[in-house]
Amino acid sequence: MVGAGIGGLTAALAMSRVGWQVSVLERAPELGEVGAGLSIWPRAWKILADLGVADRLVDGTRPAIQAGLRRPDGRWLAKVGADAAERTPVMVHRARLHEALVAELGTRDGIEVRTGVTVTCLADLDDIDARGPADVVVAADGIRSTIRNELHQRDDVRYAGYTAYRGVTAEPVPGEASTTGGETWGTGVRVGHVPLVDGRTYWFVTANRPAGETSGDHHADVTALVGDWHEPIPQLLATTPPSAVLRGDICDLRLPLRRFDHGRVVLLGDAAHATTPNLGQGACAAIEDAAVLAAQLAGHARIESALVAYDRTRRPATQRLVRASRLVGVLGQVENGPVVAVRDAGIAGLGAIAGLLSR
Ligand SMILES: Cc1cc2nc3c(=O)[nH]c(=O)nc-3n(C[C@H](O)[C@H](O)[C@H](O)COP(=O)(O)OP(=O)(O)OC[C@H]3O[C@@H](n4cnc5c(N)ncnc54)[C@H](O)[C@@H]3O)c2cc1C
Repeated sequence: MVGAGIGGLTAALAMSRVGWQVSVLERAPELGEVGAGLSIWPRAWKILADLGVADRLVDGTRPAIQAGLRRPDGRWLAKVGADAAERTPVMVHRARLHEALVAELGTRDGIEVRTGVTVTCLADLDDIDARGPADVVVAADGIRSTIRNELHQRDDVRYAGYTAYRGVTAEPVPGEASTTGGETWGTGVRVGHVPLVDGRTYWFVTANRPAGETSGDHHADVTALVGDWHEPIPQLLATTPPSAVLRGDICDLRLPLRRFDHGRVVLLGDAAHATTPNLGQGACAAIEDAAVLAAQLAGHARIESALVAYDRTRRPATQRLVRASRLVGVLGQVENGPVVAVRDAGIAGLGAIAGLLSR
């Protein structure tokens, strides 16, 4: 396994459950994650529950929240039901999920994790592991995957044209921030916020920018962009320490890969299908990849056949996700005033129809 991100660690757990000995190679000197909030949708949550990870993240029931899409002045364009906790994602802190995966790994025999090991090419792997060549190499080495680039002979990461600022409040925020969530779409700028299971609130802001452009003061940048938008947005910014605001340019893969399997090498997670985060499902897709890979390895006598079956199952679904997420990003980041007005009217109309149907 190359990479100890959410995808690699989940795959290590899932494969060990079906009897595999797994060596995880991670270039970082220590296991860990920074980051902010992460939405875990029901299918991925069920996989984490089956692997014994979900119980480490949540105890008890989750409160339902009023979610939907708003305008910067606070007017709702569309609302989704406040009663749908089972159908809505569980919001966790990325670092907590990573810690929970590592903790669960520690209870399993047959998984070895080696940090500070950078894999520079597939041939490296024969030397790195004293036990000799692996039966399967799982490349879970993220959006800038070394192994994908070696197999596909190209580095095809695309900048989507907007950057994302992310933060988590220092403490739980009472009032609207604890009972509402969703997104607010403006003109070339979006905000999202949602309470995490630990009570704090995760928020993000996206803005159209040239790649790499930053003033260095992310908190001041987001305050200038959305500090006067509807509550609880100003309150969330005020209760987030400036040093805790992260920024990263949003990227995905320019072209879909033709295959995820290459003999006994297989791509998983962002290495296979890095997506823009507009649907909040990249990590969920990596978790589902892990479960499907383990199930196919358990269900096939020949490893190559298992990897072909994994590719056939996961490639179409994940590539649809990448396309849909890209489209949402295009709509959300529109910066032409009249087009924004048409977009918002369309969303409000669809929201009203959906509301009538759900009644
Ligand atoms: C702003 C933003 C918000 C997001 N929000 C959500 C969300 O709410 N819900 C959701 O499901 N997804 C979300 N995602 C997507 C999610 O973060 C990714 O899809 C997920 O982290 C991918 O996991 P991974 O394990 O495939 O890759 P990574 O997390 O990138 O892990 C790859 C690992 O491989 C290691 N590595 C890399 N190269 C090598 C090498 N050569 N040798 C050894 N080790 C190596 C890296 O150090 C890293 O530990 C978001 C993404 C962004 C950018």
